[in-house]
Order: sequence, then C-alpha cells, then structure tokens
Amino acid sequence: MLRFNDILDRLLAYHPNADTDLLRKAYVFSAKVHMGQVRLSGEPYLSHPLEVAGILTQLRLDVAAVATGLLHDTVEDTLTTLEEIRDYFGEEIAHLVDGVTKISKISLRPSEKDQAENFRKMILAMVKDIRVVLIKLADRLHNMRTLQYHSDEKQREIAQETLDIYAPLAHRLGIDWIKTELEDLAFKHLHPDLYEEIQKKIARKEKERSRYIDEVKRILMKKLYENQIEGEVTGRLKQIYSIYQKMKDQNIDLDQVYDITAFRVIVNTIKECYDVLGIIHSLWKPIPGKFKDYIGLPKENMYQSLHTAVIGPYGERIEIQIRTWDMHKIAEEGIAAHWKYKEGKPLDEEDDKRFSWLRQLLEWQRDLKDDVEFIETVKVDLFPNEVYIFTPKGEVKVFPAGATPVDFAYSIHSDVGHHCVGAKVNGKLVPLKYELKSGDTVEIITSPNQRPSKDWLKFVKTSRAKTKIRQWFKTEEREKSIALGKEILEKELKKYDLPLAKLIKSGEMLKVALEFSFQDVDDLVAAVGYGKLTANQILGKILPPEKLEQKEEKEEGRLKGLLRKIRRTGGRDAILIKGIDNVMVRYARCCNPVPGDKVVGFITRGRGVTIHTADCQNIMDDDPHRRVEVEWDSTKEYTYPVRIRIYSEDKKGLLAEITSSISSNEANITNASVNTTEDHKAIGLFELQVNDLNHLNKVIKGIERIKGVYRVERMRAELDSLGDSP
Ligand code: MN
Repeated sequence: MLRFNDILDRLLAYHPNADTDLLRKAYVFSAKVHMGQVRLSGEPYLSHPLEVAGILTQLRLDVAAVATGLLHDTVEDTLTTLEEIRDYFGEEIAHLVDGVTKISKISLRPSEKDQAENFRKMILAMVKDIRVVLIKLADRLHNMRTLQYHSDEKQREIAQETLDIYAPLAHRLGIDWIKTELEDLAFKHLHPDLYEEIQKKIARKEKERSRYIDEVKRILMKKLYENQIEGEVTGRLKQIYSIYQKMKDQNIDLDQVYDITAFRVIVNTIKECYDVLGIIHSLWKPIPGKFKDYIGLPKENMYQSLHTAVIGPYGERIEIQIRTWDMHKIAEEGIAAHWKYKEGKPLDEEDDKRFSWLRQLLEWQRDLKDDVEFIETVKVDLFPNEVYIFTPKGEVKVFPAGATPVDFAYSIHSDVGHHCVGAKVNGKLVPLKYELKSGDTVEIITSPNQRPSKDWLKFVKTSRAKTKIRQWFKTEEREKSIALGKEILEKELKKYDLPLAKLIKSGEMLKVALEFSFQDVDDLVAAVGYGKLTANQILGKILPPEKLEQKEEKEEGRLKGLLRKIRRTGGRDAILIKGIDNVMVRYARCCNPVPGDKVVGFITRGRGVTIHTADCQNIMDDDPHRRVEVEWDSTKEYTYPVRIRIYSEDKKGLLAEITSSISSNEANITNASVNTTEDHKAIGLFELQVNDLNHLNKVIKGIERIKGVYRVERMRAELDSLGDSP
C-alpha cells in the first residue's frame, strides 16, 4: 500500500511550496471517514484514495487536485456531505469532489455504445475544470488495476465502459500512458483468453526484451554514424491491445503481426530518410509488401514517414519508421488527425482545435511553476456551443446551446414536438422556453389538443424544430385553403346546379386543374382558397360563355336588391360578401370595421376574406385584383370588436364609472388597460364588442359625458396589427 509520505514526497518534488498541511488534513479526514471500510480485495478502503492521489502526483497535478484524490469517495461512499467538505477544505476542493461524484453517477449502458462519443463530450462539457476529469481518470485507473475482485459480469461492464469512454478521454487529453494501461486492462478482462495468448507469445523476460531493443538501437546508431548521418533511434514494445486491434482490423493471426517491437529513426533531411531505408534493407531482410512510402504519398492527415518491416536480429520481425524532425513534429502535434485515424471516427474541425489546444495546455502544465496560472487557464468551457441532454432512458442527445424542451421534443419525433405542452427537467416542471443545461434529464409532456405556436419559432434553436414547425403551419394553411376553396366553388357551382362532388367524380375538375397547370384537384381548389384563382375563372372552363353572362346579369340584379335592403335597414348586422359565406370572413384588426362603415374585402392568402374600412391605410397600396366588393348583410346579428382610447383625469373611481357607462349601453368589454402619466392624467385602452357604428357612437357619447373624461377616440391601424393587412 502506498503511504501518505510517499505522496507528500512526490508532490514536494515538483511543487516545493505546496500546502502540506492541507494535504495532511485531507489524509486524516479520509482515513477517519473511511475507517472500517474494506475493498473487495480485502485491503482497507483507504488504500484506494491513496493510490488515486499517487497517480495524480504522477500527473504532477496541484495540491488541491491531489487532496481531492484523497477525498474523492467521501461524499459518495461515506456519510460525509459536500457541505462538510466545503467547510473543512474550501470551495475549490468541494467543487472538485462534487465534479468527480457527478461523473461517477453517469454510467454507460451496454445498449448505448454508439453514444460513447456524446458521453465523452458531455463529461468534458459538464465539468469545465479539467482537473475533475484527470481525477476521475486516476480513479478509474486504480479501479481497473484491481478489477479482478469483482464478479465476471461487473468486470466486463466496467471494462467495456473504460474502453468506450475513459481510454479515449485519456487519449484526447494526451496522457498516453493512462490510455495504454486502461486499454490493456480492459482488454484483459473482456477477452482473458486472447489476452493471455498474446501475452505469452510476446512475453520474454523484461530484461531480455529491453536488451533486444537496445541491441537493435545500437546496431542502427552505429550504421548511421558510419554513414555520417545525424539521427536518433527509439524502440518500444507494442501494447497488447494494439496488437489485438491490428489482428482484428486486418483479420490476421498473431504470427502475421509484425510490429510487436517497433523502432523509429529520426533524421534531418528527406534524402537521409531514403539513405537510412537503404541501409536497413541491406542490413536485414525486408518483408515483401511491408514497405510504405508515406513521404512520396503522404496520408490525408499530412502524416509523412517511411514504414518498413524486416527480419531483425535472431530472426525477429521488427517494424521501423523513418522520418525527418519536421515530419515528426507534424505526426506528434497533428494529434487530432491522429485520433481520426485511430478511432476511425471523424471529428469536426472545431473539436480538433479544442482538443489539440487542451493537449498543449496539459503539456505546458508540466513546465509551469505557478499552478494558480494553470488552474485559471483550465477553468474553461470546452464546448460553449453545445449542451448534452439525457432522455428519461439515459440516452444522451447533443443540442446547440440555448436549446429548449421544444427542440428536445422535435428531436424525438415531429408528433411529440407538435403536441408538447410542457416538460419536466430533472423531475421539475419548466416552461417550454427553458434553456437546457448539460446533464439535464428531460421528459416531454404531450397533449393531443396541443398544436405548434408561431411563438415557438422565436426560441427554438435546432433547424429540425424550425423546419417541422414551419412545415406544420404550411400544411395547416394548405388544408384551410382547400376547405375554403371548396366552399367558394361549391357555392358558385350550385348556382348552375353543378355539384362539385359530381364534377370531381367525373374527372371534369381534374381536366380543369390540368388546364391551369395544377397537379391535381386539391391544388386547384387550394389555389381558389389562396385567392390565386377565382371561382369565375374555373366556371369559364366548365360552362359555355352565354350561360355565364346570363348569370352575371342575374347576379347584378340580386346585388341591387340587396343594396336597397341595406339602405333601408341602415346597414345593421352581419356582413355579406358577393357569393361568399360568413365563415370565411374576418375583420381586420387594423381598422376594426363595424356595420355602417364603408367596407372593402381582400382575399387574403390562405385565410379567406378580410374586411377593412374603405379608408384603411393598410389596403391603399395593395393588389387591386384581390379586392372584392362587400356589403353589410342585415339578416343576422353579430357584434364586432372595436378599440377606443379614453383620455381622462387620474381619479379614483373613474374607471368604474367608465366601465359601468359602457355596459349600460350594452357593449361588452373584452380587454382594457389604463396607464397614468406623471401629470395625473390617465389613458385607457378598451376593446369592446359593438353591433354597429350607431352603437359605437352611442357608447362613446356615454363615456364623454362622465366628469373627468377629456376625450374619447376610436383607434385605427396600429403597428402590431400589420399581420392582418391583406
Ligand atoms: Mn474511487
């Protein structure tokens, strides 16, 4: 078991001024709370935090991180609370312990392996302080070293997660020795037989192996010297897991894996690279088909080197890479490209930049004397543009920052999106606009009655949600247009005893549709609803011209009669548009016409006919072809919305007097608001329902009679009603 003093010595070796009291305090605390706990191996539990802290000193981390290594399991595995940690050790260590505890709660289920990339990113996104990830890696490394004490099933589960999440994380952070060890340990527990086989075959005594490497190095250095080439030779034993991967990827036997020992020669010039290749090939027998010239033909990621495999001393196969220092630098620093090659998974450019930056940072950290400076640079949001969200089943989804439950709902299915009424985030109800945060678990609440709202377009962040919402409105608009077009056509056709259904059935309507270059009858009918085509244009294709003229005369006569009737009744009541029913009529909110006003109708795309007052500003510049004549009908009783503005004194009880005056004149108030000014005046805005102009004037007069009211005016167009213009 590693002793506390060993850790202290290691820390002081690279941070001579480290706060040893703090570290000792952490040790004493951890020993106390873990007292009596035993690991599966039978060792006292304390051995684990000590080993983790030890690994952290190998990474040369600061005293807060090493102390967190000692404390990392206290909140999760003992009665200690985060508040206690904060009280005893301060905010920084509490934050680190909390981060490690949070990551430990995330676990990858076997069915979610393809989510591994998201998990890795989420971990990095959530913690913000990269030390948390490093502590977690140290924790996982020690757990992997002692994995044999778990059940077989648990071993496989933890090993797979290590391979999917933690080894790639270590790799990204540039800590190759942790990555290599994690991979080998995971492989050992996932495929014990294969592991043993490979190990046996390559196993020689440690000394013998390194003696062999030294011998090859010595021979090569001597040859370089004889040929007056300045260069460096390195040799290493390939890790078991990478040998296994090579066997698997290339579908070959262990005997066919050549690079069990690999060497690298680095020289100054390209010419020397080829010289060295010649020297090696004359020294040892090259294995046919193994020579690759990546200098002449660089890899996509800019990697350049010569690769060859030869039968080296004692008949052993060795692989040798030859490159210049420039090529070496690219091979090492082009780390992002390296991942692509190794993991076989593309990373976008942004990711590349972030990770190579991070790796650089960790390298600097080794040289930095001042750990405060390091901590400041390390506290950054690695993925400021993304959030990582859990589904209730534990799946991870990636969204752009600022995404909302509506984005989440549309990512599941467009039906879920269309019908979402609310969401639970981490079990609590939130509004649909809520901005999701990394690590949130989101559950969507739907209702069959819910429909998308145009407001959603203002806050959704994903293009999927935007597209689906727009699509919904488009479809709805089309459906409405078809219904409206049908109604208009039916009404017109009925005048000639031509039922629309019959014309559709006989194929006559399809003929008309094709004549107007529409695909089908629905498109034709929708065009009528949109106001692109008139019913008369369609009738013109169906009826002979004489018949149409007759009808027009008749129609004119009918209208004249109607006008007489309107004059007689004083223009009360509902509206009538030439040949069109009331259901398709809406009243413009810019001018709020009431019976008695002179009115004009506009065919509004997809929305039927909008009625404006004849002098409404909004219709002046519009397409005259979409204008239709409208008259007030006197057969039905309706009320119409109007808005009035009341200027008055700011006086107690005045509002009550105004409202009672309005209702005594039998007008309903549908909306009201009152603002007061600094000079004790009040401006009231009222929305009322009135029967017609006479009624409105009566209401206005009633208000004007109240003492304290200066002026009442009817409101016309306002900016917010521009959407209602024709
Ligand atoms: Mn632990």
